[in-house]
Amino acid sequence: MSPSIRPVLRTLRGQAASDGAGVKLTRVIGSPQLPDLDPFLMLDEFGTDRPEDYLAGFPEHPHRGFETVTYMLDGRMRHRDNHGNEGVLVPGSVQWMTAGRGIVHSEMPEQEEGRMRGFQLWVNLPAREKMTAPKYQEYGPERFPEVDAAPGVRAKVIAGDVAGVRGPIEQPATRPTYLDLRLGAGDRYQHLLPAGHTAFAYVYEGSARIGDGEDAATVQARELAVLGEGEAVVLEGREADTRLILVAGQPLREPVARYGPFVMNTQAELRQAFEDYQAGRF
Ligand code: FE
Repeated sequence: MSPSIRPVLRTLRGQAASDGAGVKLTRVIGSPQLPDLDPFLMLDEFGTDRPEDYLAGFPEHPHRGFETVTYMLDGRMRHRDNHGNEGVLVPGSVQWMTAGRGIVHSEMPEQEEGRMRGFQLWVNLPAREKMTAPKYQEYGPERFPEVDAAPGVRAKVIAGDVAGVRGPIEQPATRPTYLDLRLGAGDRYQHLLPAGHTAFAYVYEGSARIGDGEDAATVQARELAVLGEGEAVVLEGREADTRLILVAGQPLREPVARYGPFVMNTQAELRQAFEDYQAGRF
């Protein structure tokens, strides 16, 4: 029997936003039109050739209660935290940072010219893990398998698996899938996802037909497709060198109390986060 195909529930375009010390970006999830997509709290695309749009970077700021996932496509970003961790994210690298009970860090461009491009995704943690010890899963481009997923379809596996090849990132709480797919016009790929997982595709170059039959939608570059229930996602490139990310994860279905860089379950926990941060307990 062929698997049921996930429908496209809606498509939307990100909104221009500014964050950090004035970095210009596109907020796709985490804005009024789509406040969250449990367990995903935010998706930003940053992409610019203009140094004035990124040079200010993201100076020192805290996080508690969730994970930040940075996927660099172009450019170099230096991160440094209050626990003594430091490194440079190069093109093709991914940093999956579990902020847990708290980190204070900066994310600053390690370049003064050229293109800076990538994504930052925020993934929620369940209540039982919000105060876990901070942790990094950070890998260079050579650590991510690239797989010929179907004729004309190339998949970089960040998390989850394609044709039995598993990406290096593991998060048992939300069991994420994070694939970067490249496909040409008419190239088609069907990807099975665990039942019940929230899923979205974000096209960042070219355009793609996503879904099947009446439930399909043509998704242009810089548009997000929110996927409904089903067993498989079906994607077909509409242009040469269409590129998209396909992301999925287990929803947490817990109350979300959120303020800026703190994401907890209750207002009392949010107040505690502020107090702990101000008292230097991160
Ligand atoms: Fe940050």
